[in-house]
Amino acid sequence: TANPHTALWLAGIFVIISQLKINVTNAYAGSIAWGNFFSRLTHNHPGRVVWLLFNVSIALLLMELGLYQAFEEILITYSTLVVAWFGALVADLVINKPLGLSPKHIEFRRSHLFDINPVGVGSMLIASSIGIAANFGAFGVKAEALAAFLALLTPFITAPLIAWLTRGRYYLCRPEDEETEADTHKHQCKLCENSFDAEDTSTCPSYSGHICSLCCSLDARCGNQCRPKAHFTAQTSALFSKIFPAKINWALHSVTGHFLGIFGLTGLIIAGLLSLVYFAQSRNALLDPDQIGHILWQVFFLLLLITGILIWLYVLAQKSARFALNEAQMHAELLETEVNAHKATALKLKQAKDEADAANSAKSRYLSGVSHELRTPLNTIYGYAQLMEANTALADKERKIATVIRRSGSHLSDVIEGLLEISKIEARKLEIHRDKVPIKQLIEQLSEMFRPIAGAKGISFEVHYQSEPPNLVAADEKRLRQVLLNLISNAIKFTPRGKVQLDIFYRNEVARFTVTDTGVGIAPEDQEKIFEPFVRLFDQRTQNVTGTGLGLSITKLLVDLMGGNIEIQSEPGKGSRFILSILLPGVAGDYDEEEVHTPITGYQGPRRTIMVVDNEPTHRQLIHDFLEPMGFEVMDASSGQECLNIIADTPVDLFLLDISMPVMNGWELSERIQALHASTPIVMLSAEPFEDVSRHPSYNRHFAYIGKPVRINILLNRIRTALDLQWIYQRNEEPVLMPEPAIQSAPSGDSGLLQEIMQFARIGYLSGVVEIIDQMEAQNYDREWIAELRRLSEQCDLDGIITAVQNREHDSED
Ligand code: ADP
Repeated sequence: TANPHTALWLAGIFVIISQLKINVTNAYAGSIAWGNFFSRLTHNHPGRVVWLLFNVSIALLLMELGLYQAFEEILITYSTLVVAWFGALVADLVINKPLGLSPKHIEFRRSHLFDINPVGVGSMLIASSIGIAANFGAFGVKAEALAAFLALLTPFITAPLIAWLTRGRYYLCRPEDEETEADTHKHQCKLCENSFDAEDTSTCPSYSGHICSLCCSLDARCGNQCRPKAHFTAQTSALFSKIFPAKINWALHSVTGHFLGIFGLTGLIIAGLLSLVYFAQSRNALLDPDQIGHILWQVFFLLLLITGILIWLYVLAQKSARFALNEAQMHAELLETEVNAHKATALKLKQAKDEADAANSAKSRYLSGVSHELRTPLNTIYGYAQLMEANTALADKERKIATVIRRSGSHLSDVIEGLLEISKIEARKLEIHRDKVPIKQLIEQLSEMFRPIAGAKGISFEVHYQSEPPNLVAADEKRLRQVLLNLISNAIKFTPRGKVQLDIFYRNEVARFTVTDTGVGIAPEDQEKIFEPFVRLFDQRTQNVTGTGLGLSITKLLVDLMGGNIEIQSEPGKGSRFILSILLPGVAGDYDEEEVHTPITGYQGPRRTIMVVDNEPTHRQLIHDFLEPMGFEVMDASSGQECLNIIADTPVDLFLLDISMPVMNGWELSERIQALHASTPIVMLSAEPFEDVSRHPSYNRHFAYIGKPVRINILLNRIRTALDLQWIYQRNEEPVLMPEPAIQSAPSGDSGLLQEIMQFARIGYLSGVVEIIDQMEAQNYDREWIAELRRLSEQCDLDGIITAVQNREHDSED
């Protein structure tokens, strides 16, 4: 049998657990209510647990104080309030909404509501006052019994009435936005970064974006920017300013006004509560009502004292908090203005940069267009000059002329490249290559090039090696040549008599080139300046010297890019010395682009077919003339389509494709060809700068690239490797290094003057040309011819002078 004690124990524990559960649930529900209430009022939510503890402590306090009897009255009052509140809500829903006195939908978002809507608050206050008064018997016994009903029903009259009187103005503070209703997207809250449906978020001017309802309720620093007239303070001051004159209104808004307001209100509440206690206790027959009254008055004043101090503190704290908030907001605004200003500047800078970039690339396009246009005819000139030079059937003199033309062509090509270089340096697109440079050969070429020019001016040009450099060094050949060329040509240009000397000193992989002249010199104050673009120094001795003033700027930029250094020592009237120091590490290997003039007569093995595609007829003809004598079958096509038509039924061993052609360019054509004959090698010919070519996506798919103007040896080398050929040399000789026909300096006699005038014309030395014409006149040359030369020199037609001299030489030979 069960022990009755055990059953009792179990029952007891069950009751305790049930009670605990009920009370904890109640306390939790209460904490939710308190939490919501306070978070709306204070924009702060310390957490559910805090409210739970708060609730439990209130309950314990009330129990311990034994004030239950007194609280019977309080609870009745409280229930009247609740009933009135409930009545106001119901009245609004069932009367105002159907009648159209309030908006059709129910809005919960703080940002869309007035803090106080007179319809709800007003009805509730009126109804609860009537209810409480009835409760205390103010309207008789019947009304006392029906107090709760009075509180419940009164709002059914007041709510529609007030709504009608206020014309429903205080429901929504923002116009009903249809956008929100139609918006089915989710919005991310700017503060908590969670996503919400559109109807749970508001657009917030303070955070410039969507924020969710909860973050909106809790935010205290926004200053109600979205509803400046709808928050409690704005509403009360609007009300006060309607009711009171300005002076009183101002006083109410002062710290003292606030204090008095809150203090008065708190005093009233305390008084009300204490009166409830008084009435409740005075019904108790055991206690003397006078004594209770006396004690409660004392408690009242003590409480007033304490609350007074606390309220004063609160009001002051509020004031400084508001002050701090305003300050913070002001700073935030300043910062925002600054950020916006920066954004605007950044945008302008970007626009300016884009414009500059566009202008720059337009310039680069223009330059490369012009260079292409110049190279196209130059290619023909250069090519035929090479052919003539190698043609042993021609007279020596004619081959010399061909050499001059070839050199001028090559010089012109360098000038064009120089132009491109300026644009590349400015666009920071210049690449430094690492070639194997036969340095002594390069210097030999330079000296061969300059010796006649110096000789023509009556000065000497000498090269001295102070120590031997290696055979091959690693450097960017083109740039190195360009730098030395500029320094030497300047030295010769600015030296009227005496000599120009190039010294080479090499140690520890560093080369030092010293260009010394006995020329006009440069004043110390100008020595820095001459490296700036377009700076040229003028005095009596140099005024006839031509130039652009760009040479040294490019030289300096290039030397910097190559990691070298350039120094200048000069004394006006005595001469100048430019010292270039640069790292040129020695490398092993062969140099494959040597200028070997190969009297090749053919190749071993079967006849090979080469297809040349170029829209320029002269270029096709040139390649024909190059290759046909060597036993190649040369076919040509003027367009990509023509080429494709031909190769449809004719086999081809090698393609030479020009890159820039109209309709189908070389790249497109090469793709079509590769699709048909994947293994046939393709050599691309380009008048564009090589850097541009190497950027093309199909760059690596081709066998080789040759820049225009085409150099025979390079072309032949490429063809040999592409087709794996063995050359047959003239009379089975080994390839020989063909000596460049040296131009004698200022030879004497008739042909001497003719040679000289040709040289001057070739280097563009116009005043030299005029001088020679004078000399010719003095030597009784025929007048007509002299007049012709004068006319040409006056028109600066140096090419015309060269032709005239050549014709004359030709005639005299006949
Ligand atoms: P350019 O030679 O085309 O005028 P540069 O930039 O090469 O342009 O030279 C700029 C100027 O520096 C020249 O115009 C000349 O006045 C001065 N200069 C350069 N080299 C020498 C030199 N060796 N002797 C005297 N003056 C020189």
